[in-house]
Amino acid sequence: MAQFNIDTQYALGANEGSNQKTNNMFIILHETTNDGAANNAHYFKNNWSTSQTYVQYVIGDGGKIYQVGADGYVAWGAGTYANENSPVQIELARTSDKVTFEKDYATFVNFARYKAQQFGIPCTLDVGGKYDKGIKTHKWVSDNIWGNHIDPVESYLKPFWHIDEGQLAKDIANGVGGSTSGGSTTQTKPARNVVTVKNGPSTGIAGWNGKGQIVPGSNSTFKNGTAWQSAGVYLINGLPMYKVGGDEYIPKKYTDQAGIITINSIHGVNAFDGNGNKIAGTESTFMDYSQWKSPDTGVKVINDKVFFLVATNEYVDGFYTIGGGNK
Ligand SMILES: [Zn+2]
Repeated sequence: MAQFNIDTQYALGANEGSNQKTNNMFIILHETTNDGAANNAHYFKNNWSTSQTYVQYVIGDGGKIYQVGADGYVAWGAGTYANENSPVQIELARTSDKVTFEKDYATFVNFARYKAQQFGIPCTLDVGGKYDKGIKTHKWVSDNIWGNHIDPVESYLKPFWHIDEGQLAKDIANGVGGSTSGGSTTQTKPARNVVTVKNGPSTGIAGWNGKGQIVPGSNSTFKNGTAWQSAGVYLINGLPMYKVGGDEYIPKKYTDQAGIITINSIHGVNAFDGNGNKIAGTESTFMDYSQWKSPDTGVKVINDKVFFLVATNEYVDGFYTIGGGNK
């Protein structure tokens, strides 16, 4: 299942960039022509108006993803026709470090696949003409529509890392390494209000009451692999816990949701900043059943509700996660 953390510190504001919606035809792949992802995202954020250039995402710095433009709105990366038909354009930042590159490339490929699937675009690379949906390189846009750029393969992937068009096409079709490999889009969907005990001691984990005290003998009930209906998520002793009984709670860190959250909201859910302000447009990112890394140390109570950290100063309401109480 896709797990991507997206850093939105360089995301354009509501009144920045184009407000024109795109058609969902292409995902366009670029490379930045210089080193580093954060600096490129920062540049786009500060100069989108004067340079008339930005994309939705810049990937690099060891597999980091920086959002600039909003999904589904025109970005200025590849000429009018391509821009108007691409809900997502992605820049791969350069590096000279092999380990960094491998992380960047895997994220670049897997994130492009993820976004393609999200917008109903096939994971084919540079196939067909200007009316054929798919993932396209900027060079393909130049060859088939408009422009003279040859990125990302001819300018970077091939000369620097010996990844040619055929290899990239194969990786786009199948995914690269890690959790998003295999090319399968079928996933077992967990029940919306059930969490399963995991990674506890063989003697079972303790249940806690709302006052933060252990419920004596509860460990014989909460054994690894047992599944429990949860009525919601609460902060007890500073830790997020699921309510699995009248006054009985189990720590999130001993469940299948340890270290992650799974969105539970059919239409997606908006993220909020640490002050409780809604971050516009994020519901297209936090889609139903998508999973996000979320450490227990990032949990925050906002307006008396438990929120999970999903990116820098970006939180999702615990209610809209698996086990959070939304049925
Ligand atoms: Zn380009």
